[in-house]
Amino acid sequence: MRLIDSHVHLDGLRDAEGAIVRARDAGVDGVVAMGANMETSAGALDAAILHPGYVFPGIGVHPADALKVEVGEAVAFTDSNASGAVAIGEIGLDYAYGFAKQNDVRERMRALYSGLLDVAEAHNLPVSVHSRSAYSDALKLLRGRGVPGAVFHWFDGPIHILREVLDSGYYVSATPAAAYSRGHRAVVSETPLERLLVETDSPVYLRAEARDSEPSDVRLTVRAVAELKGVEPEEVAQVSTRNAEHLFRLPAV
Ligand SMILES: [Zn+2]
Repeated sequence: MRLIDSHVHLDGLRDAEGAIVRARDAGVDGVVAMGANMETSAGALDAAILHPGYVFPGIGVHPADALKVEVGEAVAFTDSNASGAVAIGEIGLDYAYGFAKQNDVRERMRALYSGLLDVAEAHNLPVSVHSRSAYSDALKLLRGRGVPGAVFHWFDGPIHILREVLDSGYYVSATPAAAYSRGHRAVVSETPLERLLVETDSPVYLRAEARDSEPSDVRLTVRAVAELKGVEPEEVAQVSTRNAEHLFRLPAV
């Protein structure tokens, strides 16, 4: 079985090195390590150097940090490090945060996201998009951009927007929430396997297990997707891995 965890925050794990060993032992063939700010993006690049052919780095600034960074600085940092990355991510919009109620804050998130999309275009890199409560705007700002691909990570937006995401040729990624979240389950059910990636978004807390997740838990995502789709877990692993390899242009595992 070939398997890739397509979205992980290694910096958030209490024991990232141990988690990588456990992921290898669990049969996970690679992880895409996303950055969420300049520091953790640099960390993702370092982890990739430490684990060549296993950890593949994404660099970017998450909308949660939109007020903590200067847009020009974030864009310049990402631009100067893009050659070492497989993706620009995690980037996007999130209007659900308490601080994001005001329009000027949302405007700043959009400026940051747009600036980072410029970098992705300039370097011909795919993007990993966070779009919570900003599904339509996240898609609108992306569509028509000359990026080679995109994944709407942990998408749980409305189905009519999902259809636009899929019609635009983008991927959607499933997380362990595919086992319990009504919105996310609806999205995974509606998305053809040929457009699905699997991930953990580690260290996001696993409700059922009452602990933080790590990349080996991508098997929970595979199991949940397989149940929803009525197919064998092997098929989910196989197809989603092929999708991740295609999107992020990874060496075939
Ligand atoms: Zn994430």
